[in-house]
Amino acid sequence: MYKTERLKVFSANLPFLVSVNIGISTILVFSGIYDGLSTDKLIWMFCIYGVSALRLFFHYGISPNNPHKLDFHFAGVIFAGIVWASYPYLFHQDFTIKQEMVALIIFCGMSGGSASLLSADLRSSIAFTTITVIPFCLVLMSMGKDEKAIGLMGIGYAIALCLSAVRSSTFIIKSIRSQLHVENLVANLESEVQTRTATILTLEQRDMLTGLYNRNSFTTKVELVQDQIDTTPTIDTFIHINLEAFHIINDNYGHEFGDLVLTKVGQRLTNIDKYYGSVSARWGNDEFIIYLSTQSGYAVNEYIDLVKEKLAEPIQHHNIRVTLSFHIGYYECHQPMHVLKAIKNAQLAMNDGKRNHIRIRAFDQDIQDKYERKEYLRVEMLKALDNQDFFMNYQPIVDIRSQRIHAFEALVRWKVAGEPIAPDEFISIAEENGLITDLGKLIMKMSLVALNRVNQRYPEIAISINVSAIEFENDEFIDYLDFLIHQYAIITRNVHLEITETAMISNLGKLSDVIKRVKEMGIMISVDDFGTGFSSISVLKNLSVDFIKIDKSYVDDICTDEKDQSIVSAVTKMAHTIHSKVIAEGVEYADQLALLRASDVDFIQGYLFSKPVTFETMLTQLAYER
Ligand code: C2E
Ligand code: CA
Ligand code: CA
Repeated sequence: MYKTERLKVFSANLPFLVSVNIGISTILVFSGIYDGLSTDKLIWMFCIYGVSALRLFFHYGISPNNPHKLDFHFAGVIFAGIVWASYPYLFHQDFTIKQEMVALIIFCGMSGGSASLLSADLRSSIAFTTITVIPFCLVLMSMGKDEKAIGLMGIGYAIALCLSAVRSSTFIIKSIRSQLHVENLVANLESEVQTRTATILTLEQRDMLTGLYNRNSFTTKVELVQDQIDTTPTIDTFIHINLEAFHIINDNYGHEFGDLVLTKVGQRLTNIDKYYGSVSARWGNDEFIIYLSTQSGYAVNEYIDLVKEKLAEPIQHHNIRVTLSFHIGYYECHQPMHVLKAIKNAQLAMNDGKRNHIRIRAFDQDIQDKYERKEYLRVEMLKALDNQDFFMNYQPIVDIRSQRIHAFEALVRWKVAGEPIAPDEFISIAEENGLITDLGKLIMKMSLVALNRVNQRYPEIAISINVSAIEFENDEFIDYLDFLIHQYAIITRNVHLEITETAMISNLGKLSDVIKRVKEMGIMISVDDFGTGFSSISVLKNLSVDFIKIDKSYVDDICTDEKDQSIVSAVTKMAHTIHSKVIAEGVEYADQLALLRASDVDFIQGYLFSKPVTFETMLTQLAYER
């Protein structure tokens, strides 16, 4: 047991032990204790020297890894013991009793030393004591009375030494064991610390689900790879992937399957990374970003084709099989550029592709220009919201039979440096940048202030206010509306809220509750741009929608396209069965009006009657007709 460790302890003492052997034997031979120098004694001394040399050879010449090294040392101890033991046999015939005593003291002293110094190898310490002390004591005991007593003493001492050797050896074994135990603990602790550090690093750098780099570590990793590339010129390409309608996969097959899909995407991208040396990361829930360094634009196209091909491979799990659809936007940088800026460009390309139904879209000047304009308008909008720079126009909604104004649609207006900005453009910027809530509040307030003034003279005139889905979902929406209604003493049936068909259907879960509460307040609901989404009659019935506004696109072609004409008729019939009124939008010509009347539409809105006008013109229009 613990042979290697015992060897270490044993070896540590050996050079000292051997020097003691050489020293004592030399003193013994050259001192006057044993009647001076003689050839026999010199020979004996050289025998001790020889054995010592042999033991030193074992010590220095044999590798510590040799499993028998301790056995060689044991043999050395036996040889030394025999040579030492031979001394009194060879020379004791001439010994006086004093000399015998001295010999015994020397042997006992040496055995005492070895009992502790050799105790790392118990057999060596016991063997040395036994060989040197006991035979000599037995010889002494067989001589005379005095010698017998000395011999007995020697034997007693030898037994005590052997017991002490056993104790020392046990102590050494215990020490080795506890030393090893401590070393093991330290080693385990070190490896535990290493494993934990590695886990923490992985957690910090990797996305747990896909194993790809995460958002935080991607930039650092890319910069590291860029530093290692020494070939020039290189094209750094950033590719943004967005899985389309991923939430539908989650909704239809559960989150577990959704996770599996993401894991598969992660595996596919990792495999491509291994081959091309690209770096992939999970950028968001269903978004991925890849960095690729190439020598040519051709290689970029090849790479993107491969990614497209791999991602389009079906994913099968038990009896579920899905094929992913996605949008890819990419940006090739030919000049050094900040990684985050390059990623942003790839993302802009992806968004542009998504808006325009292009699967793979490269970043170009057109996207850059659009982005710069959006940024410019966003910053201007922040200022405009502070300064309340927005104002409203009002477009009449006219009863098709009486030709009298029934309501006005409130349409927001904004000018930047004197240039009017189209509401379609700035409303979507407000929605994308979280500014629509503030803008919506301002619109609501301006519209209700106007209604209050109109209703003071014309109490039956209503106002139709466009509300985006984001505003509607906001918890504060109803409270603010309620607050304004009380502040301006609004007749609630004169308030119509317009929400587009698409917004209504895609957020039905969240919106239907708000719609119900709004209706309880006595406010009317209009479905805007009807025909551009896919609402069902039962949904409209359940929501008790008051007005359906047929989209301008149907009105545009109503005179030339019979299909549009029959759609308008059918929609009107259907609307009437659920007690909703129909408004036709964008009526520009008298022919259109005639067909709309024939289709039994209730109201019209359009340039034929009036363009959107200022508040003052609206009052003039009302005064004119009444
Ligand atoms: P919308 O709600 O469908 O508004 C009708 C749009 O059609 C208005 O454009 C109006 O000026 C235009 N229009 C009306 N009659 C005719 C016509 O006979 N011919 C033609 N060519 N156009 C006609 P506008 O004011 O540019 O508004 C565009 C869109 O911007 C609106 O479409 C609405 O979605 C949004 N928007 C406008 N004002 C607001 C608002 O206050 N809040 C919100 N959330 N969105 C608004
Ligand atoms: Ca509208
Ligand atoms: Ca509309």
